[in-house]
Amino acid sequence: MENKKLLTVYIAYGSNMGEWLKIQKKVFPLIELRIGTVLQKSKTYISPAWGKTDQPDFKNGVIQAETALNSLQCLKALKKIELDLGRVTIEKWGPRIIDLDIIDFNGEIVSTEELTLPHPYAHKRQFVLEPLAEIAPNLVLPNFSKSISEILSSLADKVVLTFH
Ligand code: AMP
Repeated sequence: MENKKLLTVYIAYGSNMGEWLKIQKKVFPLIELRIGTVLQKSKTYISPAWGKTDQPDFKNGVIQAETALNSLQCLKALKKIELDLGRVTIEKWGPRIIDLDIIDFNGEIVSTEELTLPHPYAHKRQFVLEPLAEIAPNLVLPNFSKSISEILSSLADKVVLTFH
């Protein structure tokens, strides 16, 4: 049987509802099962909600995994995990307890209605850049000239993030 080439994906997670200790026990195994082997996992960072500030702090982090899926299959698998976790713990139409975004999929550039790669806001968000810099400081996203750690150090309005 032919071995399928494994591709590298960086996935960002965020959660500000429910008990993170319980949620993480479900979300990481589901990623491993449905996406592929988790190669690296950042610490979980606690970041204050911005924009709408009257809500609980967020738990954020980034995972590097290798996958046999293509980028669209990966997006669909992540959205299914969000749905499955939400269905377990919250009522229909309630807020999501987990948000999963593809930050980079093997250096692909995609611009469709369903999927934009690299993630369009990753380079502006400290809560993505900081955990990503922890596991992949030298990563250069396609269409960018600076590495993740360089983008992070030039980001304005940074706050001090604590860990879970
Ligand atoms: P969200 O609110 O983060 O759950 O994302 C809403 C929609 O963004 C999803 O249904 C995706 O189709 C779309 N999307 C576009 N690019 C991405 C990406 N890189 N990662 C995750 N979702 C994406």
